[in-house]
Amino acid sequence: MNKVIIVTGGSRGIGASIVKLLAAEDYKVILNYHQSEHTAEEIKQELLQQGKKIEIFKADVSKREDVRKLIQFAIEKYHKVDVLINNAGIAQEKLFTQITDEDWNKMIQTNLNSVFYCTQEVVPYMLEKQAGSIINISSIWGVTGGSCEVHYSVTKAGIDGMTKALAKELGPSHIRVNSIAPGAIDTDMNKSVTEEEWEEVKREIPLNSIGKAKDIAKCAKWLIEDEYTTGQVISVNGGWYI
Ligand code: NAP
Repeated sequence: MNKVIIVTGGSRGIGASIVKLLAAEDYKVILNYHQSEHTAEEIKQELLQQGKKIEIFKADVSKREDVRKLIQFAIEKYHKVDVLINNAGIAQEKLFTQITDEDWNKMIQTNLNSVFYCTQEVVPYMLEKQAGSIINISSIWGVTGGSCEVHYSVTKAGIDGMTKALAKELGPSHIRVNSIAPGAIDTDMNKSVTEEEWEEVKREIPLNSIGKAKDIAKCAKWLIEDEYTTGQVISVNGGWYI
């Protein structure tokens, strides 16, 4: 495959699974990481040994200057970006009354402004080609609202708003923009969830199981290959919210 794909937050969890699945399909993948250098390097070595195309690049996507360098790296290496997957994100559980300005700003900066920065830096190159696909990883909480995660829910709802508005603006240039809204997925993000709590969550999910990172990766792969879906928020949640 000739497509060049950037995955933000590709060092762990959902992002790492997306990177591995797409590299296995012979896409040219650029894995962005921030703190997990060792894990990113391990994924790179694993994929290189399989003869796959993989580059890794350290950037804090909550910072415009870092994002600029990430996109420049991709352009210098491959002269184009076909697909941007805005996956990097953080979560925090707190009562609304206890969210500080610092918590709020960090959440907006990391989860929402990063999507603005990455997308704005990439779109000019997609416009040049009159082609491209942007996939934003939002969340079930952006759609339904998550108790004790107001600031997180706000960022994810914002991402879905951006997805819809941008899909309309960029559709005439053959650039598709979609969100994937995962339900409960077993990654480090949920490492504080106890067995008992997982059982409780499972009881609320019609498919009666917790999602795997690969479930989201498969949806991302489908969205890359699809040609007629845009402006959608696709729920991958086992039927948790219908
Ligand atoms: P995770 O296991 O905690 O991994 C988070 C990833 O984001 C890591 O690779 C991390 O990179 C990266 N990241 C965080 N801040 C970054 C920054 N400033 N710059 C660059 N990379 C950064 O989380 P996950 O569960 O895979 O979540 C991935 C996405 O799915 C997030 O947007 C999350 O909100 C969304 N989501 C997850 C769930 C779930 O149940 N797990 C449900 C709905 C939505 P480093 O480690 O290198 O810093």
